[in-house]
Amino acid sequence: MLFTVVYRSRLRGAITHIQLSELDRRARERNEALGVTGVLLFDGSHFFQLLEGPETAVQDTYARIVEDSRHQHVVYLLKDYAPARKFSQWGMKLFDVRDQTAAETEALVHRLVAGISLSEADRAFKLILAFVTGRWRDHAAEADDAAKWTLETRSSGFADAQIAAAGSVPCQFALQPIVSTATESISSLEALIRSPTGGSPQECFDRVPRDRLHLFDLESKRQAFELAAAIGLGTCKLSVNLLPASLTGIPGAVQRLVRLVEEQGLHPRQIVIEVTEEEAITHFDSFAKALVQLRVAGFSVAIDDFGAGFAGLSLLSRFQPEKLKIDRAIVTEIHRDGPRQAIVKAVVECCRSLGITTIAEGVETIDEWRWLNAVGIDLFQGFLFARPKLNGVPDVSWPIAR
Ligand code: C2E
Ligand code: MN
Ligand code: MN
Repeated sequence: MLFTVVYRSRLRGAITHIQLSELDRRARERNEALGVTGVLLFDGSHFFQLLEGPETAVQDTYARIVEDSRHQHVVYLLKDYAPARKFSQWGMKLFDVRDQTAAETEALVHRLVAGISLSEADRAFKLILAFVTGRWRDHAAEADDAAKWTLETRSSGFADAQIAAAGSVPCQFALQPIVSTATESISSLEALIRSPTGGSPQECFDRVPRDRLHLFDLESKRQAFELAAAIGLGTCKLSVNLLPASLTGIPGAVQRLVRLVEEQGLHPRQIVIEVTEEEAITHFDSFAKALVQLRVAGFSVAIDDFGAGFAGLSLLSRFQPEKLKIDRAIVTEIHRDGPRQAIVKAVVECCRSLGITTIAEGVETIDEWRWLNAVGIDLFQGFLFARPKLNGVPDVSWPIAR
C-alpha cells in the first residue's frame, strides 16, 4: 500500500548550503534504496518533507527523523494512503527556499503542479503552499526546547488526613492537583474515587448494585468533602466527578449535594462538578435543568474528557461551562501531532472567546506541557506534576527553567 507522511521540523543549530546538499545526497541514496520518493523543503530554520512509498519504509524513515538530533519539534501534518505516487519522476527532491523571492516561490509552486501529478486540491499541495509562502507560521505553534526545563518537587503544604473507607458500599478518595504553572499554585484538587483497597473507580462501582449506582455516586461525595475539609482546602477548590444521572435521576440531588458540602463546613463555591462530555450530551435536556440548580447553589461546572466524546465544539453551542478539560487522548504526544494541535488551538480560541478556563488532562511530559502552555492552556493535570494520592495531597513537581 502506498503511504504518505508529511511533517515539519526545526533544524537544530545552523546548516550551510554545502552541508545541506551533502545531507540531501545521503538521504536520497537511502530513500532510493527504500523506494521512498517525495519532496524536501528547507526555509533556513524549518524542514518540510513529504515522504511517499511502501508503508513500512515510510514509517521507518519517519521514525528515524523523529529520533534524529538534527531535527527538533518534529510534527506530523498528514498521514494518508494513495493509489499512486505523486513524486515518482523526482525521486526525493530538495528545494532550498531560503531567501527566495515571491516570483521564485510562484515558479516553484507552478513546477509542483505542472511537473508532477499533484493537484491544487490535494491536502499535500495546500500544506506545501503554506510552507513555501511562510503562511504556516500564522497558525502553527511551537514550544521551546524541553531540555531547558527541569522539575523541582515540593510539598503542597496541606495537612495530612486520616479518613477511613466508609458508606453503605465503602469507598475512599485520592486527590490529584490541577495546577497553574504560571503562578506555581494548585488551582483545584480532583477527588477520584477508590475502593477500600485503593482500587480503581471501576472496581469501586462494580461492587454497587446497578439500581443504586447513582445514589451511591452522589452519597460517596460525602467522603470527598470530608477529605477536603480534613486537609484544609483553603483557597484551593475541590473537583468531584458525577454522572449527570446522579443529579437528574435522584429527587432533590442538588440540595442533597449542598447539604453534604455544608456539613463539612465547606461552601458550594469551593466545589467544581465535573461531568464528562459524552454524558452531558446524551442526557442534555435533563442535565440542563440540573445545571441551573447547580449554578443557583454556587457550584462551578467543568466538562470532563472533552474531545473523547461525540459532541465536540457543538456542545459549547448548547452550554458554556466555567471549565473545560481536554481529554488525555488528545493531549498525549500533542507536540508531535499536527491534527491534534489544530484541534486544541481551535478549542483554546473558542474557550478564550467564551471566557472558559481550559485544563489539559493527562500531561505526562515536559514536551506536552511546553506545547500546551505555548497555545495558552490555563491549567494542567497529569503525572508530570503529581499522581493522585489516596487520602491526601501529593507533592507537586514544578517545572523550572534551567
Ligand atoms: P477523570 O475524571 O478524567 O480523571 C482523571 C483520570 O486520569 C484518573 O483516573 C487519573 O488517575 C488519571 N490520570 C491523571 N493524570 C494522568 C496522567 O498523566 N496519565 C495517565 N495515564 N492517567 C492520568 P482514575 O482515578 O482511574 O479515574 C478514572 C475515571 O473514573 C475518572 O476520569 C472519572 O471519569 C471516573 N471517576 C472517578 N471518580 C469518580 C466519582 O466519584 N464519580 C464518578 N461518577 N466517576 C468517577
Ligand atoms: Mn474528572
Ligand atoms: Mn477526564
